[in-house]
Amino acid sequence: VTILGLESSCDDTAAAILRQTDESPPEILASIVYGQSELHARFGGVVPEIAARAHAEKLDLCVEEALAVAGLSLRDIDAIAVTAGPGLIGGVLSGVMCAKGLAAGLGLPLIGVNHLAGHALTPRLTDGAAYPYLMLLVSGGHCQFLIARGADSFTRLGGTIDDAPGEAFDKTARLLGLPQPGGPSVQAEATKGDARRFRFPRPLLDRPGCDMSFSGLKTALLRARDTILSEKGGLTRQDRADLCASFQAAVVDVLAAKTARAVTIYVEQTPAHPLLAVAGGVAANSAIRARLETVCTDLGVAFTAPPLELCTDNAAMIAYAGLELFHAGHRDDMALVARPRWPLDQAAAALLGSGK
Ligand code: ATP
Ligand code: FE
Repeated sequence: VTILGLESSCDDTAAAILRQTDESPPEILASIVYGQSELHARFGGVVPEIAARAHAEKLDLCVEEALAVAGLSLRDIDAIAVTAGPGLIGGVLSGVMCAKGLAAGLGLPLIGVNHLAGHALTPRLTDGAAYPYLMLLVSGGHCQFLIARGADSFTRLGGTIDDAPGEAFDKTARLLGLPQPGGPSVQAEATKGDARRFRFPRPLLDRPGCDMSFSGLKTALLRARDTILSEKGGLTRQDRADLCASFQAAVVDVLAAKTARAVTIYVEQTPAHPLLAVAGGVAANSAIRARLETVCTDLGVAFTAPPLELCTDNAAMIAYAGLELFHAGHRDDMALVARPRWPLDQAAAALLGSGK
């Protein structure tokens, strides 16, 4: 099967082509990502209207480029997978419209994919991870522990009760005048800083379960910055690096502590060959990856993290999730809708579906 995947739920326009022949693992023939960061740079965050328009303009180009890289034409494609949510509604709509056009025009099956399932299934694409496995999905808009049992079957063990870590990285960068997206720039600064200079909060560690909170961290960072500003009138390079290092250390500590708990809960339920996989944009952070690996080694659990370019948004993960759904017999039609909210956990999705 050769499947084309489209992704446009946030600020990356992406198209990818995946091929799977009988017994062999899926092969990424092309994975094209057009980032929009320059378009949004002067606004200090993603502007939904600008994003939607840019996706609409760039999607065709992305598809053409993916075909060219793969050395294929549209006639070689067997199915179309597209992110149908969650995300910024305008962007998701752009992708769904483009996918519907291609599917209708070529007479191909259409498969709507949950963006979060794309992230959560990435370890199966990259490492052939077998179900079930424990997933820490940590990204720009999400942070949760999931048990992945199938392409359409996830159980949430816990997660953030307020902000996502990616959001906190981006906010930190904004407060310190560093470029967006904040994750990579804060990580780079953090390597030059002293993580012990500021003692930022590590909330909920004394609470049972694996829920997390990151909103207090943002406020603490803002206060620390303002204290320096009022005392010295400006931030030195070292101040900035120390703030980043202290911030990142707090995120790493919280994620590590809660991961240890989630792994313990998971192992009690599913003792055979337990695996923790991490995915999502924040999983590209090297300090986080290293620390989670240590946590898993200490607990005797296998650990895997996708290559960096498959952590942040891409269409290969959407094509892959689409492929699994395709094999499971899942098909959508022209009634496929864009869903701005779409939880992965069935219980949560059912609640949302019933309008509660
Ligand atoms: P979601 O997947 O929750 O809908 P999204 O698609 O916008 O959100 P991703 O592309 O998965 O998010 O991740 C983007 C986030 O990852 C951004 O907040 C970015 O700052 C963060 N990020 C990227 N690289 C790093 C890094 N090295 N360290 C920390 N954070 C990072
Ligand atoms: Fe994402």
